[in-house]
Amino acid sequence: MTQSEILFERAQTHIPGGVNSPVRAFRAVGGKPIFIKRAQGAYLYDEDEKPYIDLINSWGPMILGHAPAMILEAVQQALGDSLSFGAPTRKEVEMAELICELVPSIEMVRLVNSGTEATMSAIRTARGYTKRAKIIKFEGCYHGHGDSFLIAAGSGAITMGEPDSAGVTQGVANDTLTAPFNDLEAVKTLVQANQGQIAAIILEPVVGNMGVVVGKDDFLQGLRQICDAEGIVLIFDEVMTGFRLSVGGFQQIVGIKPDMTTLGKIIGGGLPVGAYGGKKEIMQSVAPVGKVYQAGTLSGNPVAVSAGLAMLRHLKQTPSVYRQIQEATQQITKGMQAINQKYALAYPINSIGSMYTIFFSQKTEIFNFEDAKTSDTALFARYFQEMLKRGVYLAPSQYESLFVSTAIESTQIAHILQAHEEAIQVLSGENF
Ligand SMILES: *Cc1c(COP(=O)(O)O)cnc(C)c1O
Repeated sequence: MTQSEILFERAQTHIPGGVNSPVRAFRAVGGKPIFIKRAQGAYLYDEDEKPYIDLINSWGPMILGHAPAMILEAVQQALGDSLSFGAPTRKEVEMAELICELVPSIEMVRLVNSGTEATMSAIRTARGYTKRAKIIKFEGCYHGHGDSFLIAAGSGAITMGEPDSAGVTQGVANDTLTAPFNDLEAVKTLVQANQGQIAAIILEPVVGNMGVVVGKDDFLQGLRQICDAEGIVLIFDEVMTGFRLSVGGFQQIVGIKPDMTTLGKIIGGGLPVGAYGGKKEIMQSVAPVGKVYQAGTLSGNPVAVSAGLAMLRHLKQTPSVYRQIQEATQQITKGMQAINQKYALAYPINSIGSMYTIFFSQKTEIFNFEDAKTSDTALFARYFQEMLKRGVYLAPSQYESLFVSTAIESTQIAHILQAHEEAIQVLSGENF
């Protein structure tokens, strides 16, 4: 037995499913999860010291690869001053100033400990500000595990949502309406049927959580117009895309200013930090200035904020990071496409910046969750296992984005493409 197998046995006794976040359990791809002991640069090392090229990068935060010296140093320096004060600090001020500078739609910001807290708090703030109850979200977008977001579409376009997790009440679901992503007409229908009742529209402007799906320009512009006309708070959930697609997030690339933005992942530099912010007028609804309550014992934690500050300062000073990881990603995706063509396969690969997903679908283009769900997840699972065998660690689900870090260079790209070709060969030998 490998160390991972031994640990997984033990883990299942005292941790539900043996993991502290469900997708880590490999249920969508079969087999047993790999237990990671340490990581450096482009590589994860498991408990048996086997290396893997990491294309998850902690689900986004490790944009500079693992154990980047400048972030470790910032954390080490902070450690000497103790771990938590429960009182305001200079670093929180510097962090808030930097976020507002880099993401200009954010005029005021509140730090929290995760993306989930950021989105939960953002919709509470939008509801408090607008004095309205309902929100619109999109099928296949993930906004963390807050009750209001664990909602599936109802049966008709104007019906209310259905709980998508046990333990979420119908009462909560009644206030969450869902529409297909990239479908402006569906949003118009929902808004018309719920006139004056919608507090917020929340979306991932580039979705990572159904696999990569980029929001179309006219869709995003249309949402901006609807929100302006109807007094609805437009929330871009940039927990994944913030500081990943550019230092100003996807909103900088598409040139749209949301009313509120949620952040997470990269802003903690690998430690738990989230943030929500936006227009001053809206953020002044938050306690202690306004009546929307939100708090956190460890919010703005000095060690976590030190890591985040070091990360954001580095990204601000080093714009070449984005060019580098985009080029590496294009080399990977173009290489995969060329290999697929040799085997007469035309699986769509959606990609933007340093994010990409290959969909094992017969469709030529993937624009929303309906499209994404046409993927052959059993085939993906076999592909995943073949890649893992060859030392490439992909996200263990079809419906995820992969993330390229600055540590992925030509050696690793060659390894990834070689593994891809061998995996495709193996799968081509089977009948699919
Ligand atoms: C990861 C993610 C979240 C949740 O963040 P956690 O830190 O896991 O709670 C929310 N929204 C998006 C878009 C995400 O990718």
